[in-house]
Amino acid sequence: MENIGEVKKLLSVPKDIVITSHRNPDGDAIGSSLALYLYLNKLGHTVRVIFPSEYPHFVSWMPDAEKIIIFDIEPELTESTIKRADIIFSLDYNSLDRIDKVGEMIRPLPCTKIMIDHHLNPDYFAEYMLSEPSASSTCELVYDFIEMLGEKDKLDIPIGECLLTGILTDTGSFKYATSPKLFKIVASLLELGVDDTKIHDFVFNSQNEKNLRLLGHCLKDRMEILEEYQTGIIWLTRRDYEYYDIQRGDTEGIVNFLLKMKNIKIAAFITEQPTIVKISLRSKGDFSVEQIAKKHFKGGGHKNASGGSSYKGLKSTLLEFKNILAEYKEEINA
Ligand code: 5GP
Ligand code: MN
Repeated sequence: MENIGEVKKLLSVPKDIVITSHRNPDGDAIGSSLALYLYLNKLGHTVRVIFPSEYPHFVSWMPDAEKIIIFDIEPELTESTIKRADIIFSLDYNSLDRIDKVGEMIRPLPCTKIMIDHHLNPDYFAEYMLSEPSASSTCELVYDFIEMLGEKDKLDIPIGECLLTGILTDTGSFKYATSPKLFKIVASLLELGVDDTKIHDFVFNSQNEKNLRLLGHCLKDRMEILEEYQTGIIWLTRRDYEYYDIQRGDTEGIVNFLLKMKNIKIAAFITEQPTIVKISLRSKGDFSVEQIAKKHFKGGGHKNASGGSSYKGLKSTLLEFKNILAEYKEEINA
């Protein structure tokens, strides 16, 4: 981040600070937001975390998770809190479009905006940006941010637990986007006393019977393999959502099972939501699913993990996706 000295100066007197992250927050969104929140609290600032929509149950153990303001539940409190802020942080998203109505509230405000994010193609709406697509996670960047401020001594176990959560979820337990630097950061978190096995259990081993039955259903009856495109698709209908009583976070990670097949390079998880069809894309190797998400589904993300949406209905979206794959056939099989 350029001008880190200016940020340090800004943070040297108590401020009213709002930390925002994206809709359907994942482990990295919540981990990075709460880690930064805990750190800024320690400096004596007044800090609030705001998400557009609710967070999944597997992160409810995190410190002060219950204090997070959810726009969908408390729109007025969201607006008054945002309007009061001296500084607004944008974490784990890089365009105000990603947070819809909350973004519209933030856009016109004259307060200082700071982005910390690792997605491709940022919008330049923030005065200060730590935008680093090569980073594993926003949690890694929050660690870097605290280090740049010369404040590593403020890190403690709760902050470290939040940071490790986002690192674990965004790297799929150190399977993707790792680097020597990341492992050094994780080593320093363990040195602080963070219990990695405990966090791993909280995040990945907290499923119930219903979750495993749903996974079985996806793999047995909702999976299609398109050999000529080295692609696997799993889809879910609205009725599946009712039958399995699928809640926020219940489908997390299902898309990755497709990548376990040796000959699969691209994985798609396509689900029928109340008003849209949501598309989650993953890839192994050089093929960028970000280009598909961005060009065809009004989305984006990373080279190997992206998402988007469609208003066309489930059947049409599945067909459309297969037609799009045909366009990329040569590149996929290169
Ligand atoms: P997921 O498939 O887990 O929902 O998301 C994978 C990645 O794609 C995440 O980094 C997420 O931020 C990004 N992503 C998912 N959906 C969207 C979307 O609708 N728009 C954009 N710009 N990015 C998305
Ligand atoms: Mn992330």
